[in-house]
Amino acid sequence: MALKQWLQWGGHLFKQAMPGYCAFCLAPALAGRGWCATCLDELPWNLLACRQCGDPVPHGESLCGHCLIDPPAFSTTQAGLLYQGVIKQLVHDFKFQASPRAGMLLAELMLLTPPTTMGDALLPVPMTTAHACTRGFNQSHWLAEQLGKTCDVPLVNARRVKDSPSQRTLNRRQRAANLAGAFVFESPPPAHLLIIDDVVTTGSTGHALACAALDAGAKRVDIWAAARTPLSQD
Ligand SMILES: [Zn+2]
Ligand SMILES: [Zn+2]
Repeated sequence: MALKQWLQWGGHLFKQAMPGYCAFCLAPALAGRGWCATCLDELPWNLLACRQCGDPVPHGESLCGHCLIDPPAFSTTQAGLLYQGVIKQLVHDFKFQASPRAGMLLAELMLLTPPTTMGDALLPVPMTTAHACTRGFNQSHWLAEQLGKTCDVPLVNARRVKDSPSQRTLNRRQRAANLAGAFVFESPPPAHLLIIDDVVTTGSTGHALACAALDAGAKRVDIWAAARTPLSQD
């Protein structure tokens, strides 16, 4: 009920919500948290997911069909939530309206479902300068900074040298081709990197960034994202 109400009102509550109150329903929040127990329970948790790409899988399977046939360059994906309902709204508020409250909530939700290892450094998904200027900020970099501070892990930055046209209309293979050579490292990165992103859509960006990191000398790359778009809904 509370969540439905929130959905009808849109994301405006995030901007009005005060510390101490649930960002989703404005009931008193759990101590030190941005949410109440009921809303936390109702979030679209990504409970049965492919170990490698985070896409939902049937019970009992650890890898999806895509990863079995054509595995990506990254080893695992930790994405605790599905990109649906209130989480979609939260990401939208964060990304397109630069709401720091929405960003902090996403970072807090990520910390509830952390990956098994943080690796040697966090790697935000870089944007081209032109793209970052239009948007005003890079949401992946912002999240990586918050998580890096909290978990005491340094950040490593790659550079995006190719701006790709919108990926939305492309299929999996086209997206991969579109992104080939898009990222470069100015200096060799540490051995184990953890890519930080808000939403994993097809994994193509993570794959291209992981390829660049492995080419530059990294030994292993994993992904830690707030949410995953189920491929069936992409
Ligand atoms: Zn609530
Ligand atoms: Zn998979």
